[in-house]
Amino acid sequence: LIAETITNEALELVKSNKVCGEFAVKVIYERYSEMLRQSKSELIALRESDLKSIASSLIENILRHGDSTFKTIPSGGIVVADELYPIEMLKLVGQGIKGIVTKKGGITSHVAIIARNNGIPYLIIPEIDLNQIKNYENHYAILDSLNGKFIINPDEESSKTYNSILARYMKVQEVVKRYAFMEAFTIDQDRIHVLCNVSNIEEARVASTAGCDGVGLFRVEFLYMSEKPPNYETLYNTFEKLAALFKNKPVIVRAPDLGADKPLPYIKLEEPNPFLGLRGIRLLLEYQEELFKPFIKAFLAIANKFNNVKLMFPMVSKVKEIYEVVELIEKVKDKYVEDFRKELKLGVMIETPAAALMIDKLAETGYISFISIGTNDLTQYVLAVDRTNAKLSRLYSEINPAVLRLIKIAVDQARRYNIGIEVCGEIASKQYAVPILLGLNIKELSVNPVVVGIIKYTISKLSSKNLENELIPELLRLYDEAEVLSKTKHYLRKVGVELLS
Ligand code: PEP
Ligand code: MG
Repeated sequence: LIAETITNEALELVKSNKVCGEFAVKVIYERYSEMLRQSKSELIALRESDLKSIASSLIENILRHGDSTFKTIPSGGIVVADELYPIEMLKLVGQGIKGIVTKKGGITSHVAIIARNNGIPYLIIPEIDLNQIKNYENHYAILDSLNGKFIINPDEESSKTYNSILARYMKVQEVVKRYAFMEAFTIDQDRIHVLCNVSNIEEARVASTAGCDGVGLFRVEFLYMSEKPPNYETLYNTFEKLAALFKNKPVIVRAPDLGADKPLPYIKLEEPNPFLGLRGIRLLLEYQEELFKPFIKAFLAIANKFNNVKLMFPMVSKVKEIYEVVELIEKVKDKYVEDFRKELKLGVMIETPAAALMIDKLAETGYISFISIGTNDLTQYVLAVDRTNAKLSRLYSEINPAVLRLIKIAVDQARRYNIGIEVCGEIASKQYAVPILLGLNIKELSVNPVVVGIIKYTISKLSSKNLENELIPELLRLYDEAEVLSKTKHYLRKVGVELLS
């Protein structure tokens, strides 16, 4: 009877939300499992293990009969696909894959971010012929995501070249490993905090042992990707685990940035231009009851228990949005927060040019204690290039001088108003960008856990003063990102930094 109920409800979910079978079973299983766990009767609660084994065999069954988005992929395999959704990517990571190639997508898309957070090389090749690739199942291949190469059936010479590239890569990794667990200082004794970006508790657990100085961005969006939004308890439990993992280190939770490339199964927006539509703070303010209130309540309860947590808001484009958020906090706060202006550390993500240019006004609200520069979105909105469009990737660059000039304006304003500044976009994880960000007077970087060592190592070879006075003025005079890259790499080599790529 249980198997039949789960099957029927999962089938409904597959039809209504166009999700795959295994995912639907998992969602239904989680719903019933939660109900059983809540039961006061021990006997009923024990039934949870029966339910689990039934759900597992259903999933196994779906996988065995190939009625699945993915076949079981051998561990160590490289997946080649047209496009992947973040939720599918998370599943693949769980299967132990070693690399991903997609035809569609962007290098700062969420799929790419999950891959990087898990140390999995990811490449987007718009011109790849997926029909032809089918002939190469179980063949040997080299995937070089640092230099954008995918070689199927490599000849002896390529194999030799890549063995030596790999050996060099491993050598540099060996050198930088010990830096991960040291505090990062520049030569002129500027302390730089290197925090981590994480998307779930498993990643947070890995990050907590990777040497980072806290969590600079907790992406909660994946909790929202199932059949319905998470309730207060789920959010509370997640935040509690996160805050406890990092104890005295800061943990920045981002309010869910939903919409655009993170569509919701339960809210159909159908917008002609989702990246310029109802996303981030706009969506939260529109769906306060269903989405924002439970989230804020859970966060306030955690902020009452742990003093290392901070909260930031995505996709802010108007100062008024901050006043609306504050009004909402006023409505939902109860005994948890007496005076949230004093007790809560609130921040704004700088992802729109409007926010970058209005930091003085954001600061004057009196509610904002820090900003976090989200270069993934900021770049797309400054350059008018969709970050997920592989065909435009040559136009998308976080080190385009226009982006750098805007970051400089934002940082200078924030310093004037004594507002904390961090960068949590993918740029912070790139070795070549370290001198640029430090030179722009940024002292907190939030990166993928796997690069903590290389970023701290690079910091240790640089002088903030020198970067600010010499490198940055030179870069800001350029008009092209290729020149910015070559000048910065030249600078890094000159000061003796070993480059990963
Ligand atoms: C960003 O835009 O830089 C950012 C960190 O947010 P996300 O990538 O989740 O949109
Ligand atoms: Mg963003």
